[in-house]
Amino acid sequence: VCIMVYDVTDQALAKLNIEHLNQELEAVSRIDGLTKLFNRRFWQEQFEREYKRSLRRDEPSTVIMLDIDHFKKVNDTYGHQAGDKVIQALAAVVGSFTRETDYAGRYGGEEFVILLPEASLEHARYVAERLRKKAESTVVRHEEHTINFTVSIGAAEFSAHYDTALAWLEDADQALYAAKQNGRNLVKVHQQ
Ligand code: GH3
Ligand code: MG
Ligand code: MG
Repeated sequence: VCIMVYDVTDQALAKLNIEHLNQELEAVSRIDGLTKLFNRRFWQEQFEREYKRSLRRDEPSTVIMLDIDHFKKVNDTYGHQAGDKVIQALAAVVGSFTRETDYAGRYGGEEFVILLPEASLEHARYVAERLRKKAESTVVRHEEHTINFTVSIGAAEFSAHYDTALAWLEDADQALYAAKQNGRNLVKVHQQ
């Protein structure tokens, strides 16, 4: 009996250690804890690499930025936990839309970025439009509530005139801003 008790305790301790270790690993690694997408730091590293690669090649590459519309209202109405569920639901949609060669990351609280190597602006627009529609039809259940949400999306294709990777990303952010300004739940692409 004694051995059994010790076994169980050891197992429980081992489990605690593993949980702790997982948290530590997430912190130092490339994965965002809430969404399991790439975290901002790792995503930015990959984006930098793609920028440098794009400078050397003559192939298109497009970056997409998306942000949940009126997300503060979700938090205010249903609480922060419900907000987290919405973020996770969107992350699942984003994840399901990306191929192995794409990089999907959580850029900020409710802001996501997707790098589509070798994608033209038109292809990215097509992907973004499908993503927007999928988000619109996604339902999140929290307690007795069903929560709907929409996203605004901006996209920018690589161009050799960009001095930095950040300048490229800023154009996607500008397009996202235009989507917000034009009523939200929209996809806007940056025209060079
Ligand atoms: P807009 O349509 O202009 O984007 O309006 P918005 O309300 O979404 O505005 P904004 O993007 O500025 O708001 C982001 C909010 O997201 C503010 C912050 O409280 C909340 N937020 C950031 N990170 C998290 C998180 O991890 N969990 C939850 N639940 N909320 C978060
Ligand atoms: Mg935001
Ligand atoms: Mg928002």
